[in-house]
Amino acid sequence: MLQFQLVRLSTKAPIGTKPLAILRSNHATHFRLFHTAKRLNFDRKPLFEKILIANRGEIALRVMRTAKDLGIKTVAVYSEADVNAQHVKMADEAFLIGPAPSAESYLCIDKIIDAAKITGAQAIHPGYGFLSENADFADTVKASNIEFIGPSGDAMRAMGSKSESKYIMQDAGVPVVPGYHGENQDPKFLKEQAAKIGYPVLIKAIKGGGGKGMRIVQHPDDFEEMLASSKRESLKHFADDKVLVEKYLERPRHVEVQVFADKHGNYVHLFERDCSVQRRHQKVIEEAPAPGLSQELRMELGAKAVAAARAVNYVNAGTVEFIMDNVDKQFYFMEMNTRLQVEHPVTEMVTNTDLVRWQLEVAAGNPLPMRQEDLKLSGHAFEARVYAENPSNHFLPDTGPLFNVRTPTPSPNLRLETGFIQGDDISVYYDPMISKLVVHGEDRQDALRRFRRALEQYQIVGLNTNIGFIKTVAEHPEFIKGEVETGFIQQYEKDLFRTKGGGKFEPDPSTLALAASALRLKEIESVRKSLQDPYNPWATRSDSFRINNLNHKEYTVTTKEDDHPQPYKVVVSTHPENDSLIDMDVMNGETGETLKSYKAVKTYIDQEDGLLVSSLDNKKLKSNVVLHNDEVVVFDEFGRTTLKLPTPKYLEGLRNSQGTAGAAGSIKTPMPCKISQILVQPGQHIKKGDTLIVLEAMKMEHVIKAPMAGKVDQVLYAVGDLVAENKSLLTFADKEEPKAPH
Ligand code: ADP
Ligand code: ADP
Ligand code: MG
Repeated sequence: MLQFQLVRLSTKAPIGTKPLAILRSNHATHFRLFHTAKRLNFDRKPLFEKILIANRGEIALRVMRTAKDLGIKTVAVYSEADVNAQHVKMADEAFLIGPAPSAESYLCIDKIIDAAKITGAQAIHPGYGFLSENADFADTVKASNIEFIGPSGDAMRAMGSKSESKYIMQDAGVPVVPGYHGENQDPKFLKEQAAKIGYPVLIKAIKGGGGKGMRIVQHPDDFEEMLASSKRESLKHFADDKVLVEKYLERPRHVEVQVFADKHGNYVHLFERDCSVQRRHQKVIEEAPAPGLSQELRMELGAKAVAAARAVNYVNAGTVEFIMDNVDKQFYFMEMNTRLQVEHPVTEMVTNTDLVRWQLEVAAGNPLPMRQEDLKLSGHAFEARVYAENPSNHFLPDTGPLFNVRTPTPSPNLRLETGFIQGDDISVYYDPMISKLVVHGEDRQDALRRFRRALEQYQIVGLNTNIGFIKTVAEHPEFIKGEVETGFIQQYEKDLFRTKGGGKFEPDPSTLALAASALRLKEIESVRKSLQDPYNPWATRSDSFRINNLNHKEYTVTTKEDDHPQPYKVVVSTHPENDSLIDMDVMNGETGETLKSYKAVKTYIDQEDGLLVSSLDNKKLKSNVVLHNDEVVVFDEFGRTTLKLPTPKYLEGLRNSQGTAGAAGSIKTPMPCKISQILVQPGQHIKKGDTLIVLEAMKMEHVIKAPMAGKVDQVLYAVGDLVAENKSLLTFADKEEPKAPH
């Protein structure tokens, strides 16, 4: 059963007229196609019968959806880790191409071409990431008589290098960021160039992508070190360590333009997207159109983007990225992404187009479905990239099961693009993006309201996500004003991260009451179950005891703060006059002070939607309470609250003996990872903040620093080892030892 929720492409018709609206929009596309073809005196070419999608996750599903809609058969490829993945289930045929690591599966050109040949696929869609911008792949596909749904290998080569592309752009009259992007890689020379450009400067891998290999250098003293580290990372990720040095703009906006070209020399742009909200140089929230852009500037950007595409004889979908100085509104070419972009849906929403369909038309040899003058902006759209990660812990990626997932309801104004459903695992092998939430509104305010509401209704338990964080951003006054810059997250750190704003987190008493009533309902249910169990010899005795026990019970929960977990106690007793109701006293677990009392509360689980219904203070509340491992997660009017249940005594003993508690003396893996560097040895004295170990997980490098000064006792792993989550990597000899007398 497929549960992914993709809505048909945006139609701006009011809700309630959905089927008609969809018909109308399809009809309109056909009409336009027909007209363009006629205008060009051209026989429309048939689309492919069968295509292969060389990707996974949401983008594979996104492409298949349009293909299916057009009656095109789909072939999926998958790795051993993805046997049960949704893209495999959705495809008409699926082809196993190797083990989990992408280098042995999703990045194997030969295996993918073989799969296409065996299944008779006429074209390959590369999605984004993986092989999508690999020029050799595009060439090999073509050489195998298979159509590549994207630009030519040559266009990719020209644009694939951040330095070469800059020369091409300069020649085409497109402004580029001032800097040095030549061949000379001598560190001394590059440092001289940096001085010429003026600090701060940015070092970038010329083959770079995904924010990797980028280093900001504020001061000449740091130049050499940053250069070396950029080159190291680039070599590892892109097998090339050439870099460029450019001016680092201090208050930039990321504004990019969607372009499209066909094989007949027609070019259009589909306006711009603002992707300024980023962490680690990676986009988190994207919107279209860019807020606060004048119509004049919009048209200028569009024209420059088309000039960029023309300069390399571009065909199919591409994105020209610009960086815009928010002070003087100057914009500069940054790079061109030669593929369909992650954030393409916001453009689809505001232009009422299906860009995957456009890609298929163009690849089949048909002219662009629309002319520049027919393309109109309508309304405003936002996209959130929902990542499995922990924002309050430096956005470190998380892995694990999607134990419990609730999503907002898709509509013409709300798309949820996901490759995963409840029960699926987000694995350590691939990108931590779980899904994309896309909303459309009449204007920015309207879209933003829908965006916030949808984020509230998007509830995931099982691993950490950035959903709550995105919502906090979407509620921030500066974001609401449209004051976005790439430094937004750092700039407003104090407002966006609870822990950094100081003060401790105090759940509302009603949240604690909801948690307790859910725990109680769970207990009642389990008692009922065991009563009904005919094989349970203890049923009568123990259960009457347990039921009696439930007439008056205390639940203890603790906030999930690493530093100061705060315990709370909720005493639940049956209401004296009506035993189907309960009374609750919510107390501070340390002082015993009563924070709030609720009388005659009715609580039950709505059998239809599984939500907890409770009447607190005469207010009927519907909330989602999920019990997972030793935690209770409450989604209510205050957002998401995670509370820890006490660990049973016997488990506590076990934990201590395994050495996983008492963190002071050791450093543990924050997630499953591979050890890429170890910088310390047993016996070595270290200062607080020293780099100890460099890990690699989910395609990113993470540096583990010393939490305190001390002496390293043991290093428990070696470079190259794969380590599970929460394992000790190294241990410390107890603090700094007194120096031995000589
Ligand atoms: P965008 O400009 O759309 O944000 P990115 O450059 O961030 O594009 O990358 C798009 C997708 O490709 C992301 O999912 C990203 O994680 C993935 N990606 C980017 N660079 C690499 C890389 N070097 N290797 C593998 N995946 C990558
Ligand atoms: P990638 O290929 O990794 O996507 P980009 O060159 O597109 O690399 O840059 C990624 C992000 O880094 C941009 O969106 C922007 O936030 C930031 N950035 C890039 N160049 C500059 C610059 N010169 N000054 C300031 N920020 C920059
Ligand atoms: Mg980029």
